[in-house]
Amino acid sequence: MRYWLYFAAKLVAGAGAVLALQTALVALYPTPPPLLPGFGPPPPLFLHDLLFTFLTMGVWLVGAGLLFAIIWDQRRRCRTCLRCLIMPINRGSWGHVVVGRPRTEWICPYGHGTLSIEALQITGHQADDWQPHDDNIWKELESYQRTRE
Ligand SMILES: [Zn+2]
Repeated sequence: MRYWLYFAAKLVAGAGAVLALQTALVALYPTPPPLLPGFGPPPPLFLHDLLFTFLTMGVWLVGAGLLFAIIWDQRRRCRTCLRCLIMPINRGSWGHVVVGRPRTEWICPYGHGTLSIEALQITGHQADDWQPHDDNIWKELESYQRTRE
């Protein structure tokens, strides 16, 4: 739940940044004079002013890049503690695509789980595989302690 709340918070922050950028563009861009001087409102800027249209498209391009960065960052975070996953390890082989497909595995620095991302997307999009770890290391340490006693 915390994972998805963090993702939603980042999306809201990104949308706010893009909205602020667009609002600043609209506020700072000079308004053109009306088509007929002294009569009627000025024409709308979007699709009528080439520079303003390109600047608006640039703002939305920044927004698309921000969305991509948010999703990319979120995919590589621990589902439990939200820390960035570390130590990517390449598994599998490009020579064995049927059994042992190439993939990259990331691990949480605190051992909460392992994320496996398929490198080969030959049969459509393969979802990331998150495998949570149990507290096996503590159980092993406790059993080791018991055997010593
Ligand atoms: Zn973690």
